[in-house]
Amino acid sequence: MSYKAPRGTHDVLPSEAPTWQFVEHTFQSLVELYGYGEIRTPVFEESDLFIRSSGDTSDIVTKQMYRFQDQSERDLCLKPEGTAPAIRAYLEHNLGTISEVSRLWYATPIFRYERPQKGRYRQAHQVGLELIGSTSSQADAEVIEITLALYRRLGIERLNLKINSIGRAATRAAYREAILAHAQCYLADLDDEAQARALKNPLRLLDSKDPKAIEAMASAPSILDFLESESRQRFDELQSILARRGLAAEVDSSIVRGLDYYTDTVFEVSSPDLGAQSALCGGGRYDNLIQEMGGPSTPSVGVAMGIERAIMAIEATAQPKPTSHITVFVANISEDLFPLAEKIALDLRAKGISAQFDLDNRKFKNQIKLADKLGADFTAVVGETEAAAGEVTLKDMQAREQSTVPQHQLAEVIGAKLAKR
Ligand code: AMP
Repeated sequence: MSYKAPRGTHDVLPSEAPTWQFVEHTFQSLVELYGYGEIRTPVFEESDLFIRSSGDTSDIVTKQMYRFQDQSERDLCLKPEGTAPAIRAYLEHNLGTISEVSRLWYATPIFRYERPQKGRYRQAHQVGLELIGSTSSQADAEVIEITLALYRRLGIERLNLKINSIGRAATRAAYREAILAHAQCYLADLDDEAQARALKNPLRLLDSKDPKAIEAMASAPSILDFLESESRQRFDELQSILARRGLAAEVDSSIVRGLDYYTDTVFEVSSPDLGAQSALCGGGRYDNLIQEMGGPSTPSVGVAMGIERAIMAIEATAQPKPTSHITVFVANISEDLFPLAEKIALDLRAKGISAQFDLDNRKFKNQIKLADKLGADFTAVVGETEAAAGEVTLKDMQAREQSTVPQHQLAEVIGAKLAKR
């Protein structure tokens, strides 16, 4: 019997891991500049957390949850997104009492029963931010700015930032009626279930993937014409902050986002190099979510960025891929010098330099082949003469030079050579 990773999941192999680490480390060092602290939440949560927060008409809740009962018949699910768990933890641990504004970041797998295709998985991975406790448009701008800065640091230059405002309850209620009136003909052709879903949340029609819905909604009224003055003002303010910071944004009133919890600002960044699954990230303001989850009214804004999509976009650029390799391979010319090679490698590791030797103590020729395969920067060779003199022959594979180095100075010499590169 041969096993495969479950449909819609994928392994990250050692050859691919450096790019993942590059994305994760770049994200972490960027958000630390802004004072974000990491939050790690469980892989599974109570199902109700997502039903309440994402909305019971969202695709995530109606079709995509990995939902199960444990032995005690608790209704649980693998987390389909990162915001609701982060907010649950924020409330559970009273983080709001520590400081008025909280800045949280996370890196997490998400689980959605999607139709798998290139760039769309059932277990995908996201890094995200939640900026909790500020009503200011500066907060929206901060989250958007970090998002764009991340992609730029990753070498992804071709980006489209689209922003929209979906206003507050009154706007949504008025717009709902307008959308339903506009979509009447299209709705008449739908089956009962799809009709009921559309009636429950007509905004979803705007980001429906159904070609007929896309056609019907192309001429739909714009939600921007329904904004109350406060939302209008907030949206204008956001645009002027982005302009001041030189961040190009396109206003696109078809961006509504799939989750119920958004208010006012919503945004997406996409890449023209990604094909069908072009969304790199999505986010927005969610001023009512914390209250709906039982906390005090707390304005917040956040973003979730797909790691797989970022990697696809990195791969679409011509930049060299990060690779992992070892620094030193220690080779022994004769079989009986194996313990010495082993000792030298262990000493190097203890001094913080990555080193390997041939576990199988094979012929010298094979050891050198292995060093090559591992992409070692240096090979340290021990033969009888070197062993007797307490030295090694150090070959710099890049510079194609060699020198004789006392064994006890090997780490320092290598360190100095690396520092010069
Ligand atoms: P969302 O939580 O749906 O707003 O998604 C935010 C970002 O996560 C998207 O823009 C994608 O980059 C990524 N993403 C979401 N779902 C998936 C998935 N099933 N497979 C791969 N990436 C995903």
